Amino acid sequence: MSDHPTIAVVEDEPAIAAAVATRLRAEGFNVHIAVDGPSGVALVEQLQPDLVVLDLMLPGFDGIEVCRRIQSDRHVPVIMLTARGNESDLVLGLGAGADDYITKPFSPRALVARIHAVLRRAHAAPGSGRLRHRGVELDTSGRTGTHDGVAVHLTVTEFDLAAWFLRHPGVVFTREQLLQSVWGYPDGSGERTVDSHIQAVRRKLGPDFVRTVHGVGYGLGQ
Ligand code: CA
Repeated sequence: MSDHPTIAVVEDEPAIAAAVATRLRAEGFNVHIAVDGPSGVALVEQLQPDLVVLDLMLPGFDGIEVCRRIQSDRHVPVIMLTARGNESDLVLGLGAGADDYITKPFSPRALVARIHAVLRRAHAAPGSGRLRHRGVELDTSGRTGTHDGVAVHLTVTEFDLAAWFLRHPGVVFTREQLLQSVWGYPDGSGERTVDSHIQAVRRKLGPDFVRTVHGVGYGLGQ
């Protein structure tokens, strides 16, 4: 990543797109805007940005479809913008490979904080080495994983979450603790984010990879 990461903003409401772009440029990001689903996909393919800010409701096709298409060959971190009341769509979005979401109306400052948190994780040097548990193996230097010998495509957040459990076997974490340690959010709000990503990790690494401890939270499967 360069000192000035490139961000694609896919948003059809001009006022929001302009406000986001202005703030992100002031933070030193290179910003490019697309205003509908198809041009959003084209922009990301051409630009290869460091991160995508993606509105959920878009003309053409929606943000979930954009997310699927741009994640098909290479993972790029995605933060979704969603309106209040679109909770079920949101869960689909997180399932389609978004790393995080922020609900409209949001402050540009909050969005910038989320972007920095996701970029920090995406480019963190997790150390080299392999983490293994049952049929799951993660290569922390390449951020790649296999399940029963088959390569698994993990998003930044899914990888970090799985690695966290592998590094702390036998420990059960509350959702709030996971938000603080894996996502790096000091306020620990957004339990739905945790649940959606746990679902995604189970879908990719096996239903028993993460266990639910009722009334407490989640831990590595035993
Ligand atoms: Ca919209």
